Amino acid sequence: MHELAVTEYVFNLVNKQVEANNLKKVEKIHLLIGDQCDYVPEIIEEYLQVMSDNTALEGVKVDATVKESTIECKDCGTQFTRHEYAGKCPKCGSENLKLNRCTDFIVKNIEAI
Ligand SMILES: [Zn+2]
Repeated sequence: MHELAVTEYVFNLVNKQVEANNLKKVEKIHLLIGDQCDYVPEIIEEYLQVMSDNTALEGVKVDATVKESTIECKDCGTQFTRHEYAGKCPKCGSENLKLNRCTDFIVKNIEAI
């Protein structure tokens, strides 16, 4: 389960914020996850809840936004998503394309009191 390592990363990062800002309770963590990361937000949330007993993160919820990979046209520079892809560039019709795999994993913000 590769979510465990990334959950530890999130947990440590948020805990630093808790200490730095003297937060009492973290209610929600907003994540931005690239569609090539293959992380399941529900599993991250489960791991977080196991790790966070008796901490400011106890019972924390995870809200994840998936960021799509883009395809770039090497001829005209247009970028589009895979949903808009139909074998060629939607703007100039070129088939000279490059896939930019989105593997971002970002803690966007946290909701806390
Ligand atoms: Zn093009």
